[in-house]
Amino acid sequence: MNEKMPMITKAQAEEIAGTYPTPFHIYDERAIRENARRLKKAFSWNKGYKEYFAVKATPNPFILQILKEEGCGTDCSSLTELMMSEAVGLRGTDIMFSSNDTPAGEFTKARELGAYINLDDFTHIDFLEQECGVPETVCCRYNPGGVYEVSNGIMDNPGDAKYGFTKEQLIEGCQKLMKLGVKNFGLHSFLVSNTVTNDYYPALARTLFSLAVELKEKTGANIAFINLSGGVGVPYRPGQPANDIEVIGEGVRRAFEEIMIPAGLGDAAIFTELGRFMLAPYGQLVTRAIHEKHIYKEYIGVDACAVNLMRPAMYGAYHHITVLGKENRPCDHKYDIVGSLCENNDKFAIDRMLPEIEMGDLLVIHDTGAHGFAMGYNYNGKLRSAELLLCEDGSVRLIRRAETPQDYFATFDFSGLFRG
Ligand SMILES: *Cc1c(COP(=O)(O)O)cnc(C)c1O
Repeated sequence: MNEKMPMITKAQAEEIAGTYPTPFHIYDERAIRENARRLKKAFSWNKGYKEYFAVKATPNPFILQILKEEGCGTDCSSLTELMMSEAVGLRGTDIMFSSNDTPAGEFTKARELGAYINLDDFTHIDFLEQECGVPETVCCRYNPGGVYEVSNGIMDNPGDAKYGFTKEQLIEGCQKLMKLGVKNFGLHSFLVSNTVTNDYYPALARTLFSLAVELKEKTGANIAFINLSGGVGVPYRPGQPANDIEVIGEGVRRAFEEIMIPAGLGDAAIFTELGRFMLAPYGQLVTRAIHEKHIYKEYIGVDACAVNLMRPAMYGAYHHITVLGKENRPCDHKYDIVGSLCENNDKFAIDRMLPEIEMGDLLVIHDTGAHGFAMGYNYNGKLRSAELLLCEDGSVRLIRRAETPQDYFATFDFSGLFRG
């Protein structure tokens, strides 16, 4: 069962806040490492297996370094994500560059680093060829169209998604790439986000494995790897059952033995590009109650806002909240927990039952380790918070300082404004 526990006590949080004022994001190094090891073990049956952490989920070089030490590479989609990977010493096939609507220059950087290039579209073959030439190994992203169903019903609607090649384009694209000198292929697909079922990856694997067999038969292409991408989710609600990565790895193994091995594709590597699964549960946003307001509803205003965590405002996403030091008190007060943006959807929780909150109380917002800080922005001139690492030895390390007004103004040149 999945219980939501703060990673630090009230006393620890107060001590940390003495050095690094709230709000701040904090990540649990030990838990990140343990989870990465479980994932690696679940896919250890495949000798080429590798996780390429989706940098966009938590773009922090210290986090990338930890995952690198656990054998992970990175999945990048922009110049700066490539640069961050390079900065932690990742190069070559440690990097997957998942392009989509990619501007000129970014393919070149990916090529310079020797990264795998994951093409999103048929027309990008020419774009790549003209920009920097085509490498020996190319991955192509597949969009099966229609709706995507696994055992428990319709999961998503790839036919409406902007990504990937159609099957016909993939076959033609493969032939075209072979003429341009490509020797090895990868296949990639990302059909559903935040799945909380052990069936998604095995079902996706079957789709991609069958496609690999068809592609091999129709074009003679050498399939070097299958990239299952992201999408394995986490339970944001307490009590919601979590994915079991061992069961997922085993489901993919069975599909591999049924489809890939008989087709002579048993040497293909399995890659994953998980983001949320790697980090979401291992990061928390700590914020302080600074206002209370009693009108038609009861409001608690905190010192974080949607700039620090956009998911509730953007998707109506649930994030569990704990009031530190009041973990065992009854949840007998109903609150909206709000931030300070001039924007009514800036609410971390609506009609949430919590213990009575007093001004100065510290609140922990759970499961903010992925797509949390990362989606931050500067609306209303708000500044991004610090990111801290709770290290394995119990110490706390600053891994990104909080922004200052100087950072916010850094892109202006005021000199022209103040001409005598
Ligand atoms: C976002 C993304 C991922 C990671 O997705 P999660 O839902 O965080 O696992 C992986 N690959 C690609 C190409 C993505 O865009």
